[in-house]
Amino acid sequence: MTEKLILDGNRVADWMKEVLVERIGVLSKRGIVPCLATVLVGSNPSSATYVKMKGNACRKLGMRSIRVDLPENTTTSELIEEINKLNEDPNVHGILLQHPVPPHIDERTAFDAIRIEKDVDGVTTLGYAQNAFGIAQFPSCTPAAIMAILAYYDLEVAGKHAVVIGRSPILGKPVSAMLLNSNATVTTCHSRTANLEEIVRLGDIVVAAVGKPNFVKGSWIKQGAIVLDAGYNAGNVGDVDYKSCLLNASAITPVPAGVGPVTIATLLKHTVDAAER
Ligand code: NAP
Repeated sequence: MTEKLILDGNRVADWMKEVLVERIGVLSKRGIVPCLATVLVGSNPSSATYVKMKGNACRKLGMRSIRVDLPENTTTSELIEEINKLNEDPNVHGILLQHPVPPHIDERTAFDAIRIEKDVDGVTTLGYAQNAFGIAQFPSCTPAAIMAILAYYDLEVAGKHAVVIGRSPILGKPVSAMLLNSNATVTTCHSRTANLEEIVRLGDIVVAAVGKPNFVKGSWIKQGAIVLDAGYNAGNVGDVDYKSCLLNASAITPVPAGVGPVTIATLLKHTVDAAER
């Protein structure tokens, strides 16, 4: 068996955070502490965990984090009112509205209430469009993390066939655009894709963003392909069946310690970028 490259997300994240510590130090001399505000509506336990992790990550680097926890029955206009307060607060540099919000809320309208300068997770319509053009200040964090992993390990994207499984506005679609902007030939698959396995077998780069544990099987992976698993399911399980995919892949992200920690480091980086601006 040829040697496998395990794409270590903790290593990439640590490298990114080292650079950030220096930049946060420079800002603090000017009396600026980068601050991320997280907004959580309702009590979804996974969302609460994600928000807590993001707050802890901020504090560990000497950044501030503000938590806005709103009850399940919050209306769209009440949520927008809270977002507007954060928009107006000069001490808040980044705003993250945790997805998903309860179904009665108009998530798109709420996302679009975030000012573009503070849209550190690239969720607004404008931020999404800028990403499609390749000019986003803050592309969505998980897609940006996937690109950061490829860049860190010096894995060539140009000219490769990338197959993305998933087309959500926060992950599948923006990562497809980023790969395309990096000159990959991109196929984006979804729940209505016919012959999914055959298409995945064509991929030199496979990105799994499905939300189904162990969904991508080893037999779907072309010999030597690079596999990036954005999935995060209950019990720390990815969307890729890691053991079987490892057999054919030349490089692969594990779960945990793959895309997840780099996503958080990217969020911190975007917040520091926003504070510097
Ligand atoms: P999502 O909004 O539920 O989207 C899932 C996508 O997968 C949809 O486009 C869906 O197709 C597609 N899909 C579902 N079943 C399929 C099937 N049988 N065959 C092919 N495609 C199928 O999920 P998401 O928010 O993009 O998240 C995807 C995964 O990433 C989840 O595991 C989530 O936990 C994880 N995630 C991780 C991070 C991180 O930091 N690592 C951040 C965000 C999300 P349709 O469009 O046709 O429905």
